[in-house]
Amino acid sequence: MKKQFAIIGLGRFGVSVSTELFQLGHEVLAVDINPSKVKEITNFSTHSAVADGTDEKALRKLGIANFDHVIVAIGDNIQASILCTLLLKEIGIKSVWAKAQNYYHHKVLDKIGADKIIHPEHDMGQRIAQHLVSDKVIDYIELSADYSIVEITAPKSMHNKTLFDLDIRAKFGVTILGIKRKKQINISPLAEDRVLVGDILIVIGQKNDLKRFEDTN
Ligand code: ATP
Ligand code: ATP
Ligand code: CA
Repeated sequence: MKKQFAIIGLGRFGVSVSTELFQLGHEVLAVDINPSKVKEITNFSTHSAVADGTDEKALRKLGIANFDHVIVAIGDNIQASILCTLLLKEIGIKSVWAKAQNYYHHKVLDKIGADKIIHPEHDMGQRIAQHLVSDKVIDYIELSADYSIVEITAPKSMHNKTLFDLDIRAKFGVTILGIKRKKQINISPLAEDRVLVGDILIVIGQKNDLKRFEDTN
């Protein structure tokens, strides 16, 4: 289903989010205070506008209240990011995601009701580190201090065996959420599903258990 997104702040992060959403076929309103940034995004957004995200009147004029999701991607100007997020919550936007620059910024965004706070550099750094230390881990999402999801190339010892044979939950305490095979993905695989050479496993669990799973050859 087509969703409506507004992105405020078109730095590298905002542009990347806008472009991806637009290419996925969603309606995207891209906003920046800097006209040259807005000009660059015109062909990669549904609507684009020059506006100050801290100006309530300007936001209302853009019809921001009709958007389901707004992403505040204003970076260095922490004050503007906070004020913009606050206005959006006051206007009544259900889902406001904001990019944080540091821990203090994060705390304030949290207090004023941001629905999700993103640390792109930190998150990306963590993912890259996971790739660097493991030749099997393809992607990594941290869910909490204790839990994550990893995408990992199926270890050799698991090839041609079913999840039942491998008894993964009992042996590792982790659950396979999906098995990727070429372009196909088997979500929520059953005990009788078999792991084949080249499969990518999407695994959820406690970090320690995942580590043991990753270390399997
Ligand atoms: P990135 O790391 O994503 O490239 P950044 O963290 O370096 O970005 P900035 O470049 O400081 O972030 O800000 C992102 C964008 O937000 C800039 O294009 C800037 O013009 C825009 N911006 C700053 N203040 C406002 C505001 N009040 N209203 C709308 N846009 C703003
Ligand atoms: P459990 O309480 O461990 O889920 P169950 O009888 O409900 O047991 P089955 O679905 O019959 O489980 O699967 C038997 C075994 O196969 C499980 O105990 C588990 O070790 C393994 N298994 C099945 N599906 C998965 C999965 N998606 N991820 C990890 N292991 C699985
Ligand atoms: Ca930056």
